[in-house]
Amino acid sequence: MELDLLPLNLPGVPDQRPLVIAGPCSAETEEQVMSAARQLSHNGIKIFRAGIWKPRTKPGGFEGNGEKALPWLQRVKAETGMLTSTEVATPHHVEAALKGGVDLLWIGARTSANPFAVQDIADALRGVDVPVLVKNPVNPDLELWIGGMQRINGAGIKRLAAIHRGFTTYDKTIYRNLPMWHVPIELRRRMPGLPIFCDPSHIGGRRELVAPLSQQAMDLGFDGLIIESHCNPDAAWSDAKQQVTPDVLSFILDKLVVRSVSDSTESLKSLRQQIDELDNDLIQQLSKRMRISREIAQYKKDHNVAVVQTGRYNEILDKRGAQGVLCGMSSDFMKAIFEAIHAESVRQQIEIINK
Ligand code: PEP
Ligand code: MN
Repeated sequence: MELDLLPLNLPGVPDQRPLVIAGPCSAETEEQVMSAARQLSHNGIKIFRAGIWKPRTKPGGFEGNGEKALPWLQRVKAETGMLTSTEVATPHHVEAALKGGVDLLWIGARTSANPFAVQDIADALRGVDVPVLVKNPVNPDLELWIGGMQRINGAGIKRLAAIHRGFTTYDKTIYRNLPMWHVPIELRRRMPGLPIFCDPSHIGGRRELVAPLSQQAMDLGFDGLIIESHCNPDAAWSDAKQQVTPDVLSFILDKLVVRSVSDSTESLKSLRQQIDELDNDLIQQLSKRMRISREIAQYKKDHNVAVVQTGRYNEILDKRGAQGVLCGMSSDFMKAIFEAIHAESVRQQIEIINK
């Protein structure tokens, strides 16, 4: 089912890449919300985020201030003119947020993994015109993500966007949530008119990763970024490690290199195709080389010659090293490659000799 979309058309927000949504993970206190909002607005941010209903993995943590925080968001809007956004997970949240004047709603990753919950939210949105952003489900299931957006769209929400926030993994990695970029890239291919935001804060889980992930998102042609920003990140009540100050956020945004979409996605695609073909050639050539190496092994076996002949090995390393340097690669790289090729070659020769 195709999505029936309209441009996000956000009042007061210039239509440029990236569209930036920024603000704290959670609305903690009115003062914390206001100080983040004032600094962000002073730095040119036009859309404010703050979670007021927080889905926490375990009970007992800070689960958000709930409706009590809605007037704080109203104050943000009144004093700074920024649009406000928050996460909704139930029809009650939708109703309260709309009544409280929140301008954009997003559906969190845990909620979008549950079709019943998304359908309940969609039903609560029927007849309302509000932009809705749907985060990817925690598991890398593109169909479920698309299905969630179809449910919201089916309720008449045409100002719709996706947020890529990475995918849960059990393995230890440098990321909090694996980016698995191919998933949003495939989403772009399937739903070309759908704006896609990247959430480098929840992908990275660490503030040092916010800048490189944001750049990667721009290089892949994403439309927007949603970034967690707090005036005193280390003291944040949730997601302290991944939040950046409003000034650091401005620094990150200033440094972003934003190329035109046609440049980044189209030429990237064709460059990647070339890389795929070259890798294919490399594998074919390596396999041919191994075949010849096995023939040599047969000869060595028939003539009782030792497998490794140091003179020949050194000659290969020296010659290939020099050739590689002439072609613009480092001699260390060439050495590593040819040592690995030689090791595999010796392994295959020993197999033949011991047959
Ligand atoms: C959030 O944006 O604060 C949040 C809870 O994100 P996610 O649903 O991506 O975990
Ligand atoms: Mn968060």
